[in-house]
Amino acid sequence: MTFLVDSHCHLGDLKFGDIDQDLNEVLDNAKNSGVTHMLCVNTDLGTFPDMYNKIKDLPNVYASVGTHPLNVNDYAWTEKELLDYAAYDKVIAVGEIGLDYYYDEETKEQQKDVFIRQIRIARQIGKPIIIHGRSAKDDIFKIVIDEQAKDVGGIFHCFADDWDLAEKVLDLGFYISVSGMVTFKKAANIREIASRVPLDRLLLETDSPYLAPVPNRGKPNQPAYVKYVAEEIAKLRDLPVDEVCRITSENFARLFNLDLN
Ligand SMILES: [Zn+2]
Ligand SMILES: [Zn+2]
Repeated sequence: MTFLVDSHCHLGDLKFGDIDQDLNEVLDNAKNSGVTHMLCVNTDLGTFPDMYNKIKDLPNVYASVGTHPLNVNDYAWTEKELLDYAAYDKVIAVGEIGLDYYYDEETKEQQKDVFIRQIRIARQIGKPIIIHGRSAKDDIFKIVIDEQAKDVGGIFHCFADDWDLAEKVLDLGFYISVSGMVTFKKAANIREIASRVPLDRLLLETDSPYLAPVPNRGKPNQPAYVKYVAEEIAKLRDLPVDEVCRITSENFARLFNLDLN
């Protein structure tokens, strides 16, 4: 069978503007669109228990746990808590973690501290990390190097930086995940990345409920729409869509040491 993986979605909170999407409906749509596996990403340990409850009985839905750089002040997490949650059955990654200076420069130092502490825990337990980066590429790269994050590897998600950074993190063994932005008219830089990343390092994601791809741009996003990301990449790389789905699913399985079924 053909697998199709959404490597990054936020099923714990599917609210987008005034619209609150129903999780069961969203899961049905995903199934009907051929999405077979999803990684439900956490952004704040305070919301982790609720998120985990929603997905814990869903087959082929995995979870991550971690504090997003824009949430560093939302919840005073402890290392013990992160270690405890990371040991839950379905948790396969630490994330999303990273630096975002685009929306918040005031918390720069805190963001760095929280990023570093979470990388250390990920290394301690040997789980890959999911990195969120925006307008902070030099600091992110420095921390990734200093903290030897390549030992656990992981994903640079919703990649929107330049090829220079892409090349450097690919050299370290990281994967690059492309979101629905690849379908946006003005996102030539992301199409360039999506065309150049070695196929065995490429992942697909929606980042639902945000960043809905064309033809649903501006509306709430959901994992079903990862097929539009696959279609765009198939076009860019002149490959059959099925092939893009197969390769990116195999990448996901390899990174997280999973048997897709
Ligand atoms: Zn993100
Ligand atoms: Zn996200």
